[in-house]
Amino acid sequence: MSHSTETDVLIVGGGVIGVAIAYELAKASVQTLVIEKDNLGSQSTRAGAGMLGAQVEMMAAGPMYELGVTSRALFPTLREELLEICGCDMELQTPGIFRVAVNEVDRQELLTRQVWQRSAGQRAEWYEDDELRRILGDDVISATYGALYLPDDHQVRNMAFLLGLVASAKALGAQFREQTSMSGFLTENGAIVGVHTLNGPIRANRVVLATGAWTGLLGRELNLDIPIHPVKGQSLLLNSYAPPTPYTIFTHGCYILPKRNGQVYVGATEEESGFDSRPNLGALAQLSNQAVGLMPSLASLPFVEPIAGLRPGSRDGLPVLGGVPGAPGLYIASGHFRNGVLLSAITGKVMREVLTGQQTSVDLTPFSVARSVNT
Ligand SMILES: Cc1cc2nc3c(=O)[nH]c(=O)nc-3n(C[C@H](O)[C@H](O)[C@H](O)COP(=O)(O)OP(=O)(O)OC[C@H]3O[C@@H](n4cnc5c(N)ncnc54)[C@H](O)[C@@H]3O)c2cc1C
Repeated sequence: MSHSTETDVLIVGGGVIGVAIAYELAKASVQTLVIEKDNLGSQSTRAGAGMLGAQVEMMAAGPMYELGVTSRALFPTLREELLEICGCDMELQTPGIFRVAVNEVDRQELLTRQVWQRSAGQRAEWYEDDELRRILGDDVISATYGALYLPDDHQVRNMAFLLGLVASAKALGAQFREQTSMSGFLTENGAIVGVHTLNGPIRANRVVLATGAWTGLLGRELNLDIPIHPVKGQSLLLNSYAPPTPYTIFTHGCYILPKRNGQVYVGATEEESGFDSRPNLGALAQLSNQAVGLMPSLASLPFVEPIAGLRPGSRDGLPVLGGVPGAPGLYIASGHFRNGVLLSAITGKVMREVLTGQQTSVDLTPFSVARSVNT
């Protein structure tokens, strides 16, 4: 049955980004509705590994690195908040990440990274191969060219985090509607005043597109060229009652995350294949070869499932955050590519600041919609 709804802020997209914004708005008592075309968290968010890799993922200093480090620092407090509001545990694991060098070029890049990250005030320790294998066990890891240990890069379990954000936002008054797909914009005098869905129109004072890899498609109706496109990632989930190590091990083209529930997440490919999100044997065979080459003990672990999702890639690798010039009432929070879980905490915070007319706690110029959207 078709029915009409009104809300102050309408968030389109119930992945980790849309839900993190809803949580922040609900804390600020802003009336918020999230609509999601499938189930909450069912797309890129469900597929993600959950690394909070502010250091391991960044090759150079710059706005993305700053944003990542700022966001990572919000997680311990966020964890306490979610525990207090809804009793949900995001399964934050803090042993840190080893970024393992697999050849001499890799080693030199990591040693350079250690220097700039330390001078930027972060912890980053170098371990030679023999020390590394003493820590991890040489039956666990094969020979390496040394590794950079990043003790402050953590991980969460994505769906536990997402469900905690949803339950907490609901407890604070936010509303969520699944199986509700936005099919177009409601406009009046050039302003966005809501969206059309198959279940009827929804009017809103502000509309936020947090639609991940689909954001570019949705902009087309307004003749907006939003430079966000899908980048497929495939991973494997394995079972283990006792994961081979408590640390996350990250190397070229592959990473291994022991999860608190005993599972081991092995990720991830990076492929440009449009909106095809199906896992395939060739990519997964290559990934498992790389993982077993680094950590031979994985070979005997049974499969849980293959995983695939579409990361929201952006043209310059930075997320797109803020109001859309020339489209009053429309905002975008998307393009978080490989780091949407890491960046969800700061994205929720700054989008709440934008939407409530406050000074943002981070300079959003490098992430502005204006830099990238052609109107
Ligand atoms: C294999 C893999 C590993 C990853 N590992 C990590 C990691 O370790 N750490 C990290 O930080 N990040 C990681 N990421 C990236 C991270 O998962 C993404 O950046 C993040 O999930 C993006 O969140 P999102 O909410 O923008 O997108 P999504 O989770 O895709 O959510 C967007 C939502 O919008 C909905 N939607 C789209 N169109 C409409 C419409 N018309 N109407 C209503 N709803 C709509 C979709 O159904 C979807 O649920 C990984 C990603 C992959 C694929």
